[in-house]
Amino acid sequence: GNFSLGLTGGIGSGKTTIANMFAELGATLIDTDLIAHQLTIPGGLAIPAIREQFGPKFITTQGAMDRAAIRQLVFADTEQKHKLEAILHPLIRTETEREAAQAKGDYRIFVVPLLVESGNWKQRVDRILVVDCDEETQISRVMSRNQLNREEVTAIMRNQASRQDRLTAADDVINNDGDLKKIRDEVLRLHQRYLQLADFSK
Ligand code: ATP
Repeated sequence: GNFSLGLTGGIGSGKTTIANMFAELGATLIDTDLIAHQLTIPGGLAIPAIREQFGPKFITTQGAMDRAAIRQLVFADTEQKHKLEAILHPLIRTETEREAAQAKGDYRIFVVPLLVESGNWKQRVDRILVVDCDEETQISRVMSRNQLNREEVTAIMRNQASRQDRLTAADDVINNDGDLKKIRDEVLRLHQRYLQLADFSK
């Protein structure tokens, strides 16, 4: 079928963990973060445009985008940030659709961290699943996983939609504060529902 689910959630909410559970059950994952990353590794499709736009000093000797240099450049300069996004976003969309067209699973799951923030993405998917968790849980998981301090994590969270905005946009919600066994049961229940919806959309 053509059924497409959008899976989103704040940083460290558990998107990847939960998306992988759906993939084990037979959904095809299309991970926009992974696609974005692949665009900027050596040989990546965005490299020529990045070199052209920002100059060779933003490309490493291995031929990747120099992440640290680019991060510094766009950090305090929204115009440069928009120029980078103008290169990356269309390529992400093209690659995403290419993967979607080749998807072999029962249905597709687009994993999009900033889905609620993007009108285009909201239109593209048939249904939105939000991975929700308590903000304190989110903060402590990201602090330990990424070796960041509390202020660094909350700064990232402030640049994302609020928990409430995401919940408002959600068709389905999985709460990921609890233990993974309980969450797996919830994933299974939703997967059955998505299989039905995929069937109807054939
Ligand atoms: P990001 O937005 O940074 O890509 P994410 O939303 O994909 O993050 P994950 O990477 O899946 O989140 O999870 C964040 C961290 O929390 C990981 O280290 C993961 O192993 C852990 N984690 C996820 N869910 C649970 C859970 N229910 N119980 C305990 N730890 C969890």
